[in-house]
Amino acid sequence: MKNLFPQFYRLADSELAELFKSAVFIFDANMLLHLYRYPKKARDDLLRILVGLSSENRLWLPYQSALEFQSNRLSVISDQREKYGKVNTVISDIESRLRKELDALELRKRHSSIDPDILLEEISASFNKYRAQLTQLESEQLDVHHEDSIRSEIEKLFAERIGSPFSSEEIEGIFKEGAVRYKAKRPPGYADEDEKKGTYIIDRGMYVKREFGDLIVWKEILQFIKGKKPQGVIFVTDDNKQDWWLRVNGKTVGPRPELLSEVFSEAGLSNFYIYNSERFMSLASQHLGIHVEKDSIEQVKTISSERVKLGNRLYKENRVRLHLVQMYGDRCQICSFDGASEAASIIPVSEGGARVLGNTLLLCPNHHKTFDRGAFSVNDDFTLLGLDGSLRVDQNHEISVDSLKFHRENVYRRPETD
Ligand SMILES: [Zn+2]
Repeated sequence: MKNLFPQFYRLADSELAELFKSAVFIFDANMLLHLYRYPKKARDDLLRILVGLSSENRLWLPYQSALEFQSNRLSVISDQREKYGKVNTVISDIESRLRKELDALELRKRHSSIDPDILLEEISASFNKYRAQLTQLESEQLDVHHEDSIRSEIEKLFAERIGSPFSSEEIEGIFKEGAVRYKAKRPPGYADEDEKKGTYIIDRGMYVKREFGDLIVWKEILQFIKGKKPQGVIFVTDDNKQDWWLRVNGKTVGPRPELLSEVFSEAGLSNFYIYNSERFMSLASQHLGIHVEKDSIEQVKTISSERVKLGNRLYKENRVRLHLVQMYGDRCQICSFDGASEAASIIPVSEGGARVLGNTLLLCPNHHKTFDRGAFSVNDDFTLLGLDGSLRVDQNHEISVDSLKFHRENVYRRPETD
């Protein structure tokens, strides 16, 4: 039974140990980008594993993964840095708000026995201490302008171990085949279709559609296996979507059997498996004789699940935005500014607003910012409050009156009259 349907079987422990000893490891772009996201220790642990594999000539990187890595690298670096700024803002906001509200009670003037200064001093001292730690950590983080030591490391590890790119005819062929495969929900890649449709990476004068990125990687893997005939292959990806993993009752049980089956039948290799970052780190620690701290594996897991949440959010945002762009073109509903329009939630998401059409406006960056700050709002008849004119509304855009009411009452700040 097992030799007829190997794709439905998990690896036995002995098979797994064997595979880890002999396999070539193939990585997707996200695994390399994680090197920027992990805390230093976890990063060093992952790098040590990669160095070990590289010295045994057991690393390989699809060209498409290298391309995606290069194209996303700077935004990952700047996202990491942005976090420090955000934490600083939260701390400063709380401190100044506390100060202001205690001042408003005029405790000092009224000879109250309550002394706010003791608290304020202590809080200031501990906030300052924390800020200093943040600054220290931030200085250890890469900046977009810095020389990128992580990339240099990756260049060394994968030198001569990157696949050769498909020709433009081959890429076109994959787009065509992809359209058919995605329609039939044949893995991998179809789960990226809605999120990435309409976005490209430009490479060698070609527009490489991002929605087919996973499929291009997959085709490269199949070709690599057919050409190099390795004893075994392990593909490591941190894409957690259902077009890579088989889920039963919400629990991931392993790679999609269709994928294993395609490698078995199409490329003739039976020693093939797929792991995510967490599983890979912990198995590498067991089977490659490279010690990895438990902490590191925990951190890898956390960052991976943060990515899933972020991915879901971006997906929902993008879906609503694309819908609005279909209605309005890429034009702000207030000033008709063309291009760079953003989806603005009417009830802020932080206050429970849903990412749905009825709670979203399409605004230029400028109006988005001032709308969020409450510099203006919208009446039920779509005339503007705090600004002249009215909102342009498509007949298919059913804006929730409850959302508008919430914005007027909780976000909008009436201009001060004196
Ligand atoms: Zn505008």
